[in-house]
Amino acid sequence: MGQQLDWIDGEISSLKDQGLYNHIRVIDSPMGARVNIDGRSLLNFCANNYLGLADHPRLKEAAKAAIDSYGVGPGAVRTIAGTTALHEELEQALAKFKRAEACITLQSGFTANLATIPAIVGKGDVIFSDRLNHASIIDGCRLSRAKIVAYAHNDMADLEKQLEEHTDYGRRLIVTDGVFSMDGDIAPLDQICELAEKHGCVSMVDDAHGEGVLGDGGRGIIDHFGLHGRVDIEVGTLSKAFGVVGGLVAGKKTLIEWLKQRGRPFLFSSAMTAPDAGACIEAVRMLAESTELVDRLWHNAEFFKKEMSNLGFDIGHSVTPIVPVMLGEAPVAQQFSRRLFEEGIFAMAIGYPTVAPGKARIRVMNSAAHGQDDLEQALDAFERVGKELGVR
Ligand SMILES: *Cc1c(COP(=O)(O)O)cnc(C)c1O
Repeated sequence: MGQQLDWIDGEISSLKDQGLYNHIRVIDSPMGARVNIDGRSLLNFCANNYLGLADHPRLKEAAKAAIDSYGVGPGAVRTIAGTTALHEELEQALAKFKRAEACITLQSGFTANLATIPAIVGKGDVIFSDRLNHASIIDGCRLSRAKIVAYAHNDMADLEKQLEEHTDYGRRLIVTDGVFSMDGDIAPLDQICELAEKHGCVSMVDDAHGEGVLGDGGRGIIDHFGLHGRVDIEVGTLSKAFGVVGGLVAGKKTLIEWLKQRGRPFLFSSAMTAPDAGACIEAVRMLAESTELVDRLWHNAEFFKKEMSNLGFDIGHSVTPIVPVMLGEAPVAQQFSRRLFEEGIFAMAIGYPTVAPGKARIRVMNSAAHGQDDLEQALDAFERVGKELGVR
């Protein structure tokens, strides 16, 4: 072996020196309200398991039943080896839940964006993309080879200015996250939709953090704004509120038909497994049956936010169950997270480059899985550590 990869050691040391190295915790339990780490049980505020479905008995039963009927492996991509009835059932259930004409599932939300954007725009076309869009949108845009115009975050005046300045292209696409997961703010999708209609653009939203959270019974951001049939493309994930893994695209029948012909991750990578699909069907069924989990999520989030404000913490301007606890410099946030960990609270510090310099924070992910006692324990720990570190 040569020395061609020796530079990696230097890069890794540099990440460690800057405090940017990812240390990944090993979890020895289901992804529930509590998780076991290093032999201790900690309250979990890191997961996007908004509804507590990741470890729900009904989903586990459905996954086991799917294994008994269909086994564990898909064999090959769906266009070659065919697709299971479960995948079809899930896509129909999702379309119905989302009140969309049709739906396609993919392996993940990430590949849903990679499948969709290059199938819609290409060389000679232009994409208007919110500056804070998720990495998978950015990569999907790059893969498309269309011109990318990043507009200022949620700034409709800037978006309109860019739309007016970039007319000399073929197809034009506006793409945005629904919920921005670092601050918990949401895209003004009603205005984006109007601009798209006015300027003859395709509109696309990635609702990964809105599904199971926003709208009637968790139907997502399109439902929240009442924009059914007006947003051309809705991307989503089955790995957050739905508690499993997988991605989805919902929209008009022709769009979904096209993605089955031209979505490269659909054509060249195998599907989510049968137990994934079985568990997801059960998740959709539970959401359609009752709003109980979504209601509990919001109840928990409102309580936690109110109490954190009362304690004097700066919790930003989130309008979702995501709570950014603003702490300033990255080392402070990291120390805060370490101290919380010692107090039995698993909550992640997030710093530059994921967020702007000086905007480091602990990001608290609320969940319907948490009970009142859990929230009170977390608030006590925040209060104690906050006083100790003098940050509020
Ligand atoms: C989490 C997330 C994704 C990725 O979803 P996966 O299913 O985990 O691949 C894509 N887009 C946005 C906006 C996300 O927040």
